[in-house]
Amino acid sequence: MATQIKATAPRSDAEWTARLELAACYRIFDMMGWSESIYNHITLRVPGEDAFLINPYGLLWSEVTASNLVKIDHEGNKLCDSPYPVNKAGFTQHGLFHAHCDWAHAIVHTHTPDTMAVCSSADGLTPTNFYACFFEGGVAYHDFEGITVRAEEGVRLLENLGDKRVLLLRNHGPVVLGETLYEMFFNYYMLQRACEIQVKTCALGNPIRVPPEVIAIHQRDRDEVALKDFGRADFEAWVRKLDTIDTGWRD
Ligand SMILES: [Zn+2]
Repeated sequence: MATQIKATAPRSDAEWTARLELAACYRIFDMMGWSESIYNHITLRVPGEDAFLINPYGLLWSEVTASNLVKIDHEGNKLCDSPYPVNKAGFTQHGLFHAHCDWAHAIVHTHTPDTMAVCSSADGLTPTNFYACFFEGGVAYHDFEGITVRAEEGVRLLENLGDKRVLLLRNHGPVVLGETLYEMFFNYYMLQRACEIQVKTCALGNPIRVPPEVIAIHQRDRDEVALKDFGRADFEAWVRKLDTIDTGWRD
């Protein structure tokens, strides 16, 4: 059956900016070693539209460019003329969160070994290192029900997410949601670090739990020194690094 094309409206400047930012984000994740073959997604809302950008199914994250990102609706139907398919099953949970959390403009889900290891540990993310303490009280969990492609799991996913922005899918992997791409990127960066360190600490044995009163100070002081446009300076710095390696993502 031929792929159905619903619309071919011209790209706005806002859409092109979103395409550039998301393409850079895919390449940065890949540069960091956080990509997973042709699977997993980072999705970004097109500003002012009920539309989202996603990676073309079949391409590595290192092959994503601004122009080959696919514009879709919240059900994963294509809204642009693209030769590439969309992994609609893989988009199921992203579409759910985009549709029901109107603040969640940027969402990432990965399968990195260290985040998956923490998701597969009964204790989940523990306040035993600098980065992990930032997330204490801010992480939601969802029990494993098999591959997350069934719509009927959506109610439980939303209930379990609650008002959090980090959802650890037990036995599976993390979902990080942000109001902006920058926020999502920086929170993911810290979560990835937190999990890498937790895995190493557990291998050494006897991890030290940080007491609640110290976590409260840690989080308070972070909020006082955080930059206004949270994560933007970090993201832009990594884009500069990316450009020293390959600028093909800008195509
Ligand atoms: Zn997954």
